[in-house]
Amino acid sequence: MPDLTDVPSAVRDLARVLAEPRPMRRGTLTVRYLKCNKPGCRCGDRDNARHGPYCSVVRVVEGRTRSRHVPADRAPELRRQVEAGQQFRKHVEVYWQACEKWADAQLDTPKATSHEAAKKGGSKPPLRPKSSPRSKRS
Ligand SMILES: [Zn+2]
Repeated sequence: MPDLTDVPSAVRDLARVLAEPRPMRRGTLTVRYLKCNKPGCRCGDRDNARHGPYCSVVRVVEGRTRSRHVPADRAPELRRQVEAGQQFRKHVEVYWQACEKWADAQLDTPKATSHEAAKKGGSKPPLRPKSSPRSKRS
């Protein structure tokens, strides 16, 4: 049972930021200008003539590249969504670090007194699953 009065203020603040809903996405925004290669099109005649801009967000999902195309005039909106996603990811990482610091501090604190254990499990020692070592690698 987590005692919420013990939540470090850094963790609390970060959690508040993360909980704020906003439209965002993962992936990379790309804007391209392309040649269509259709015979007779002026983009074939002139070197610097191209179609576009074509705007899309590209993302790799389970090893496959997925693109979502959007009209060029929505590019600023898409850019904001992508940036919000990047910011969120950064915040998650900072949140992890703050929580792990908190978790470390908990482990470094002497274990709760025995009457708490008695409350929960009587006299039996708690069963420990074999394969969950608390590794502290980082
Ligand atoms: Zn063309």
